[in-house]
Amino acid sequence: MKLEQLKGIGKVSIEKFKQLGVFEPVDLLFHLPLRYEDKTRITPIADAKAFHYAQIEGVIKASYVTQGKRPILVVEVADDTGTIQLKFFNFYYSQKLKMKPDLVIRAYGEIRLDMQGKTIIHPEFEMSPSKPLAESLTAIYPKVEGLNQSTIQKAIVQAVDLLNGDALEMTDLLPADWLTKQQLPTLKQAIKTVHAPPPDVDINTLINQQHPAQQRLKLEELLAHYLAMHQLKTHAQSQTAPTLPINESQKELLLRHLPFRLTNAQLRVIGEIHDDMQQTIPMQRLVQGDVGSGKTVVAALAMQAALVNGKQAAMMAPTEILAEQHWLSLQTMFPDHQFAYLTGGMKGKTREAILSHIATDADIMIGTHALFQDEVVYRQLALVIIDEQHRFGVHQRLALKAKGAKGLSVPHNLIMTATPIPRTLAQIAYANLDLSVIDELPPGRKKINTLLLANDKMPQLAKRIRDALATGEQAYWVCTLIEESEHLRAKAAEDTYRELQQWFPDLKIGLVHGRLKANDKNQVMQQFKTGKIQLLVATTVIEVGVDVPNASLMVIDNAERLGLSQLHQLRGRVGRGNKQSHCILMYQKPLTEHAQTRLQTMRSTHNGFEIAQQDLTMRGPGEILGTRQKGSMAFRLVDPENDVKLFEQAKELAVYMLENHPQACPKLTDRWHKQGQELAKV
Ligand code: ADP
Ligand code: MG
Repeated sequence: MKLEQLKGIGKVSIEKFKQLGVFEPVDLLFHLPLRYEDKTRITPIADAKAFHYAQIEGVIKASYVTQGKRPILVVEVADDTGTIQLKFFNFYYSQKLKMKPDLVIRAYGEIRLDMQGKTIIHPEFEMSPSKPLAESLTAIYPKVEGLNQSTIQKAIVQAVDLLNGDALEMTDLLPADWLTKQQLPTLKQAIKTVHAPPPDVDINTLINQQHPAQQRLKLEELLAHYLAMHQLKTHAQSQTAPTLPINESQKELLLRHLPFRLTNAQLRVIGEIHDDMQQTIPMQRLVQGDVGSGKTVVAALAMQAALVNGKQAAMMAPTEILAEQHWLSLQTMFPDHQFAYLTGGMKGKTREAILSHIATDADIMIGTHALFQDEVVYRQLALVIIDEQHRFGVHQRLALKAKGAKGLSVPHNLIMTATPIPRTLAQIAYANLDLSVIDELPPGRKKINTLLLANDKMPQLAKRIRDALATGEQAYWVCTLIEESEHLRAKAAEDTYRELQQWFPDLKIGLVHGRLKANDKNQVMQQFKTGKIQLLVATTVIEVGVDVPNASLMVIDNAERLGLSQLHQLRGRVGRGNKQSHCILMYQKPLTEHAQTRLQTMRSTHNGFEIAQQDLTMRGPGEILGTRQKGSMAFRLVDPENDVKLFEQAKELAVYMLENHPQACPKLTDRWHKQGQELAKV
């Protein structure tokens, strides 16, 4: 059975369906609903809850267009229990004419609260409704540009019919006895329930994604994820990596030249890394350490193990600013070794020269992801370090790259992250890695004094900044405007920069944002490092890793917009020297209660793990892993935000399946990662 044999699917939609991972009819059944619309009932207006979707029906009391730059069509509707407003920002005049007072209207949408009370913005609606109410929930599917929701729905209805008629195969890969014990439905039942909920289904559990049919599918999806991770891990373990004996006297020498003594946590983690590097299987280790816990020196000691054995080590940073910083600081630790520095901006002859250096004499390579392009050929790469990796998925992709590596041996892998991920989440996100934690900060670090300040208090703040800078200290001013493009973000930062120049005409102010050319960016950072710039206006590009110990004051504009973990990362840019540092969280009044609690957490907590845990409870893992990562986790049904409690069960199931049903395991990963593409794309 082919996709094009279904009604309503033409050449164009076939291409679109491919983008959704749908190649044949059975794939449609695994294209699972994003959410449901409940049009089986009319909700009395008084009962319609804010932030929930509801269908209401009532009589139009008034309809008018507001005056102003952007006219809005407002339709006031009342039923026996209350009133609600329907608002249209885009509308046709003919629409307004149709929505006359005294007519009955049925509308569906998300209930919001605004100054006038309950509101639905751009509802779906029907005038003088005559159609009977829907008999069951309407499934709404993920879609791509150019493919209608109704095309998807119709295709899936046909696929479900085929399934009912046994024209599509649906082998249950989970053991029947296990399902019975857990009181979960079979795969076929579950699939049918989620696509075509029977009229007697418990609507609320389905809408809340808690129905046993959904639980079953989520468990299977998580199981497939664990099995894929397990596969990556066993694959890595089937490869060989160079054994790198540690040269104790060289190690002592390096440690003796450091201006500080390593913390016990640093020593322990270095020990774990060195143990791995002496094995013949490639290290796959994640080092988690809070901001300022001293990960760079840990990386340096890992590098040394490669260098003393005549091999190369490469370190990848997520931004050029960071890469350059590592380049500079590692050079002081390894003065006798040859460095190559490569970023994406390097082109032509410069690039060629660097590539040939990497292929021959260079010992240490520092750079951005450019280091891992196919054209880069290494002499004898024995260690890959990925610093400050926030992006979930990167390590798997690199692991896959290693898979394709030619020759007998692949490098050891070390991944370092400053985003402390709570265990529950790390378990799933990094299931294929061994974990080391640097759970101790170097001694003598002072707590960063964190305060909240409304952004209409600029005169007070200006005085504070002046006083601090007068004593020779330096400061960051972070602009957090979350504009939709890098361009707008840059512009917002430029505006702030100009504004601050007006406040402080006598201070040396710099500006750095993502749109600057690499050279300009580095120049600004360099000037800040050497103290030529006193106040650095920056977008969140400075979030990760930047190390300027003399900077002791940070202002974060519109702090209420950021997640706690991100605020913690930013704040970690100060408090690196021995001076008392301050972080001022500026906010726009009025703060919601929720925002207030979050910002208070920043005042009272300095431990990244605690903050991450708070973030998890308050905002969900998407915010911790970063929104993009959430996307790249690419679950169809599992929502890491709400399904944490299934992780443990899925993991146990994975162990059980590997032991008792090993032949089903690859089938499960294939089913859920059909194209395997997500991971393979770099
Ligand atoms: P991060 O873990 O955030 O990458 P860095 O490696 O940048 O931290 O280290 C932060 C600062 O602390 C640097 O200036 C570094 O030289 C210093 N540092 C690292 N380890 C120690 C230590 N054991 N004692 C004192 N200072 C240290
Ligand atoms: Mg760092």
